[in-house]
Amino acid sequence: MKKTQYTIATLSSHSALQILKGAKDEGFNTLLIVTPEREAFYRTFPFIDEFMTVSKFSDFPSIEKQLIEKNVILIPHGSFVAYLGTQKNKTMKVSYYGNKKVLDWEEDRLKQREWLEHANILMPQQFKDVDSINYPVIVKSYGAAGGSGYFYAKNKRDYNSKISQMGSKQFVIQEYVIGVPLYIHYFYSPLTKKLEIMSIDRRYETNVDSLGRIPLAGQEGLEINPSYVVVGNSPLVLREAMLVEAYNMGLRVIESSQKLMDGRGLFGAFCLETVISEKQKFYTIEISCRIVAGTNLFTHGSAYSWLYYNEPMSTGRRIAREIKHAVEQKKLKMILD
Ligand code: AMP
Ligand code: AMP
Repeated sequence: MKKTQYTIATLSSHSALQILKGAKDEGFNTLLIVTPEREAFYRTFPFIDEFMTVSKFSDFPSIEKQLIEKNVILIPHGSFVAYLGTQKNKTMKVSYYGNKKVLDWEEDRLKQREWLEHANILMPQQFKDVDSINYPVIVKSYGAAGGSGYFYAKNKRDYNSKISQMGSKQFVIQEYVIGVPLYIHYFYSPLTKKLEIMSIDRRYETNVDSLGRIPLAGQEGLEINPSYVVVGNSPLVLREAMLVEAYNMGLRVIESSQKLMDGRGLFGAFCLETVISEKQKFYTIEISCRIVAGTNLFTHGSAYSWLYYNEPMSTGRRIAREIKHAVEQKKLKMILD
């Protein structure tokens, strides 16, 4: 089968533009699943061949049959987990780029921790018992919520006054690491068995990243609490000597996933979300097992992808190239679910 017989599709959010631009650059037909209020905006881009409208993202299963008839390969991004949930991701029948077995290991924060510990990845301490907490801590709900609903507690009193906001949600209590938040975007190809660092970003989160704009004296008495809702991303290159450990962490995560899951493990785009401490240690706070939105900075490639490819290579384009190579080598089954 030729690659032109396949259509690459995704939902109109998160990193859809980058994914479909990359797919077009690699010669695929492209399709966007769009909600009505977003359609006019997305129609301004020339690389989207087809639009399919749903009134809301969670109605996605209603168009699945049509997608299958069109030979669609779906590229999941952050909105798939946020709006459809793990269960709908697992049960969808249209070809899906990635290994769905990874979803269970990613979704459950305890399983995720087991995986990362198995890969010898350093993580912030986690506290089970409220009486054993070393403050400060961050209290985080489960799931890809983009940092919303988290809170910071500097001591026991602070913790007790805020914990009721979690309601019945599942949450974890984590050591708060003071340092530089750094998100490393990787791509692992099971076809070439090679891991690459595609790019790096740091998030801009409100209001924690803007607290420094008001002097401490101006904040006193206002009871401002840091919040961690992502609004955008900025690029960052890492001190080169630290790149080696960043790379090795990615390798260990891949190797562990192959041992813990079904042999295929994790592949394609993924991200280790880290905070680098003053001792230059990477503390990994989370793994995201698909394309992350910080890669949107690099639609034309990054300082790193340029070194590998000598041509503009976004993560979205890298995914499409992988699919193209898999079609050519008749190994599509290896990378789809
Ligand atoms: P959205 O479709 O924009 O609501 O995004 C879906 C999920 O992806 C959000 O709940 C966030 O967890 C994550 N996300 C969206 N945009 C970004 C971003 N620029 N940087 C990091 N994460 C993001
Ligand atoms: P997450 O949803 O785990 O990606 O976290 C969202 C944001 O919360 C991060 O980008 C950090 O700014 C902050 N954060 C999460 N965990 C920690 C931690 N253990 N220490 C310090 N900051 C954290």
